[in-house]
Amino acid sequence: MIRLCPECKIELSKIIIADNINGGIVKSGLEYTLDDEIRTRALRGGMKNRSGIINGYLCTKCSRVLLYATKD
Ligand SMILES: [Zn+2]
Repeated sequence: MIRLCPECKIELSKIIIADNINGGIVKSGLEYTLDDEIRTRALRGGMKNRSGIINGYLCTKCSRVLLYATKD
């Protein structure tokens, strides 16, 4: 699916979002859930039942980063 920047109207580039932890680059695997109970458990230590993943996209013109959810 082609995604466009809402401002520039050009195609977004898919990116890998990384977190710089302890001096190293760690690829971030973002997930999400719609369930409040599951979300509470996730905060205590690991998401047990996710609804899907989050993908990142970059506009190379304005540098805007957009996140889109993809259901499992
Ligand atoms: Zn843009």
